[in-house]
Amino acid sequence: MSNPNAHLSTVVASGDELLAGGWELVVGLEVHVELATRTKLFSGSPNRFGDAPNSNIDPVTLGLPGALPVLNRTAVELAMRIGLALNCRIQPCIFHRKNYFYPDMPKAYQISQYDLPLNADGHLVLPSGTVVGVERAHLEEDTGKSTHVGGATGRIHGSDYSLIDFNRAGVPLVEIVSRPDIRTSEQAREYVTELRAILEVIGASDAKMEEGSMRVDANVSVHKPGTPFGTRCEIKNVNSIRALGRAIDYEARRQIDIIDTGGEIRQETRHWDDAQGRTHTLRTKEDADDYRYFPEPDLVRLEPTPDWIESVRASLPALPAARREALSALTGYDTRSEAIVVVVERGQHGYVHAVADAGGDPVRALVHVQQAFAEEGSTPRVPASDLAALTVMEQDGKVSATQAKQILATLVDNGGGDPSAIAAAKGFEAMDTSAIETMVAEAIAADPDAWAKYCAGEEKAAGAIVGRVMKASKGKADGKVVAAIMQGRRSAG
Ligand code: ADP
Ligand code: MG
Repeated sequence: MSNPNAHLSTVVASGDELLAGGWELVVGLEVHVELATRTKLFSGSPNRFGDAPNSNIDPVTLGLPGALPVLNRTAVELAMRIGLALNCRIQPCIFHRKNYFYPDMPKAYQISQYDLPLNADGHLVLPSGTVVGVERAHLEEDTGKSTHVGGATGRIHGSDYSLIDFNRAGVPLVEIVSRPDIRTSEQAREYVTELRAILEVIGASDAKMEEGSMRVDANVSVHKPGTPFGTRCEIKNVNSIRALGRAIDYEARRQIDIIDTGGEIRQETRHWDDAQGRTHTLRTKEDADDYRYFPEPDLVRLEPTPDWIESVRASLPALPAARREALSALTGYDTRSEAIVVVVERGQHGYVHAVADAGGDPVRALVHVQQAFAEEGSTPRVPASDLAALTVMEQDGKVSATQAKQILATLVDNGGGDPSAIAAAKGFEAMDTSAIETMVAEAIAADPDAWAKYCAGEEKAAGAIVGRVMKASKGKADGKVVAAIMQGRRSAG
């Protein structure tokens, strides 16, 4: 019965998945993250979400004449943490002005990085083993936020008036640009999930897509393998990881339909409408901006010293990949197994180690945490020693797997407790082996055909016998004990 390998399913099919008709999907992601600094990128105003509009502003934020930017050292350090976590080269770099007019950008330019970004040429290895190149991860400032009031869509067209909040203007961002190495929507979701976990772990950003501290734009194209990449469309307004997958799949189908009916893809920016489940044109390449980039004259070159880079590297915590490795070493499960991926994603790996340290069975601990602790967060309320005690009772055959699940549910409901007391209260007294032996004999007598097949080496036939024993014992018999008794009888002939 309780086969630990049953949980050993991979999260995604890695490698290239060809779309029907021989098409291949090609995706590159541009991810903006707001850095978790106390103040803005070039001024001392607070970097804080949710304050009263226009309360976190100053002459630099508003671009008033004569105001000069001063680079935030913590922002640089957090950007370096991101670069190192993504295996980038950290290099001497400069800032550029990216010129365009938009009402929520008071200077009429954004200070960004252009041909010399801080972090370049990295990569990210996903839990499934897929490697996605990271072209660059550069520093830039965020814009303010406009709210268009009146009109149906919340867009500027048709609105009665617009409000502008400059609190977000000048908030430090890192833009992480992937190479077009992603081949399925599942890989795209996996990339963003892993990236988000890394950003949280290294303390660079809270990376909340719903609050906009992490924003993902997807570049999508299709082509036939062996031919050059197709023309791409960039999809904006993707507000969740689920929406990202839907938007990519929709867009790929849209492009294939156009090409299949003799049309051509225009390079354009498209808007994802999650309610309608479709993308529509936002702007085409013809009206693409000419940003007239030039080096920012008010800032000097940024050249992190090797000592600084090494001290940042030394301060990085274990990344999710290392945490998966450690759980794999503890349990013998594959690093790609769903249980390990899910538990690390929830930040509950430390708890599983604590259960093992308290004398618990690591594999049972991992599986219980995966299955019963979805709502518990990174520090489950059930004391590690309680879960450890439960796994030992299972190991010793004092409770069956079914009973253990019920005890576990009670532990989670009550935030802990003594599992043997819970077992006693539920009437889960240990079923002794001789009682189980009798039940096995009765089950064999009731289904001699299944027993004969099992004895002839047909392992699947065991299920019928085990099922009868479980029914007769109302789930109290330990599956492992049942299996051992059956094997013993078989080899005894
Ligand atoms: P731009 O300079 O116009 O922003 P980039 O070359 O920097 O273009 O690419 C931006 C993003 O688009 C990157 O994430 C990259 O991986 C992705 N990308 C580039 N070409 C393609 C393509 N043919 N299909 C899908 N994504 C692409
Ligand atoms: Mg680009």
